[in-house]
Amino acid sequence: MEFATLAESFNKMESTRKRLELTQFLVELFEKTPHNVISKIVYLIQGKLRPDFEGIELGVAEKLAIRAISKSSGIPIKKIEEEYRKRGDLGHASSIILEQKTQTTFLVEDITVERVYDTLFKIAKLGGSRSQDMKMKYISSLLNDATPLESSFILKILLGTLRLGIAENTVMDALAIAFSGNKENRKKLQHAYNVSSDLGKVAEIIAMKGLEGIEKFEIVLFNPIRPMLADRVKSEEEAIEKMGNQFAAEYKLDGERVQLHIEGDKVELFSRSLERIENYYPDIIEKIPKNIQADNIILEAEAVAINENTGEFLPFQELMHRRRKYKIEKAVTEYPITVNFFDILYCNGKSCVELNYKERREKLEKHIKEDEFAKYIPMRIVKNQNEIEDFMENSINAGSEGLMLKMLDKPYQAGSRGSHWLKLKREYRNELGDSLDLVVIGGFFGKGRRTGNYGTLLLATYDEDEDTFPSICKVGTGFSDESLDQLYQILHPKVSIKKNTRIISEMEADVWFEPELVIEVVASEITLSPIHKAALNVIRNDIGLALRFPKFTGKIRVEKAAEDASTNEEVITLYKGQKKVAHDKNLM
Ligand code: AMP
Repeated sequence: MEFATLAESFNKMESTRKRLELTQFLVELFEKTPHNVISKIVYLIQGKLRPDFEGIELGVAEKLAIRAISKSSGIPIKKIEEEYRKRGDLGHASSIILEQKTQTTFLVEDITVERVYDTLFKIAKLGGSRSQDMKMKYISSLLNDATPLESSFILKILLGTLRLGIAENTVMDALAIAFSGNKENRKKLQHAYNVSSDLGKVAEIIAMKGLEGIEKFEIVLFNPIRPMLADRVKSEEEAIEKMGNQFAAEYKLDGERVQLHIEGDKVELFSRSLERIENYYPDIIEKIPKNIQADNIILEAEAVAINENTGEFLPFQELMHRRRKYKIEKAVTEYPITVNFFDILYCNGKSCVELNYKERREKLEKHIKEDEFAKYIPMRIVKNQNEIEDFMENSINAGSEGLMLKMLDKPYQAGSRGSHWLKLKREYRNELGDSLDLVVIGGFFGKGRRTGNYGTLLLATYDEDEDTFPSICKVGTGFSDESLDQLYQILHPKVSIKKNTRIISEMEADVWFEPELVIEVVASEITLSPIHKAALNVIRNDIGLALRFPKFTGKIRVEKAAEDASTNEEVITLYKGQKKVAHDKNLM
């Protein structure tokens, strides 16, 4: 397939943010795409080469790209840098520069999607001391044969700056329309995606085998499953209202969610956002296979830091000490953990997600042997408010955050947030009722003690429908000197020259960040706001929602991707909930 077709499609897609239009462009593109190339196209649309969990990063620095442009075009580096500064995007700058290309090339080889993809793949795989030269060679050979428009998109993919604003749901809508003629079939694709986390594979199967292939889609060991998520409730009464008169209550531990795939001694670990995290947990890799009584298995657990002397659970931040490249062994002994299993998704070659909670818990206890390191998460079947309160007391005393409540007769719903699992945190009962996980989109330089740091941060929610990050508040309290330094270290490399197009904010920050980091905040209230853009036009026209008196809790949620942050929907629910409480109080 000619790369020009893809570049032209990308060009059209960049010109709109409207979901219906994007879907239509995608359908047209998919219809033109040979079936054996479709998975590659789907990855490229998302600016990737393979699904996230494979951890294939392009890692090309701007400097190198600039040298490659210069080499293939004969245009001096200085001129390219100048244009880049003007445009803020190297891909865009290069297309303008290459229009004025001085160096004529002979024997131009056709650029196909396959060739671009394969070359990018080779670049991603390169390592070692000679890799920079080789990368340069590969890039300039592509640019040599590319038109200015093609070059612009090749560079954007290489540098990770291709942002078409296409959410996974939009890709699935378009696949359903293009290959089954009906958008409603999206649900079937969604299921396949939820159990494979691989949109390229889903695209390939529907293109080649149609819906029948999608319906037969199965869980594959070592391919992560998208996690099931929980809704929140504020009180025991609300939980009983939603769950009926008998359900399971488990401790809600404050650690890191880990999905374990195990066969013999081979163990792979995935984080909540499905990144590979074996490096941080060599102790899990070494010890857990001994506890497994099955040929192969997929499990979910919460890894929690503990006080070895008292056995008490320690807060999530303690795990942060393990997130380092060097001397991880030292961190492992200094910050010991236990692994607390709460679900089983696959066992001895068969999926378990269709089983109900009770059956899964029984299976979990059958196939894992407990010891000092591997535990079942504490669970009790509860029937009334007293029993929930009693178990909540135990949970809080053990050092956990609250309870997870789970319906006994429901299956595991991969990739979805629903009311079959509810979370009830202790602090839900006061003020706003819950903490929010928000995306850091901008920063303001600090004064006084905070000079040289970002003293205040601009935060956003995640808008699932638009795949954007609308601002919700500025936060300047709750920071210790240590956390300010730590945030600076993390945020500084994420500074971008231009505001990312997925950021929706009227407020001007001193610096814009790539929307990647998630932090936890609490607040006293959610108010209507003419400035902030979260849930814009939902409650009132031209008015968004904002947090009143927001405060950073000290938790940097490294395990969450920006798309896992609190959504507009959640903020709207909290806003309505608080109005209801006020209304009920007035009636009293
Ligand atoms: P939140 O991040 O506040 O939405 O809470 C959901 C997270 O709680 C999950 O992603 C898990 O990491 C964690 N968690 C702790 N205990 C449990 C449990 N018993 N069942 C499921 N998730 C749990």
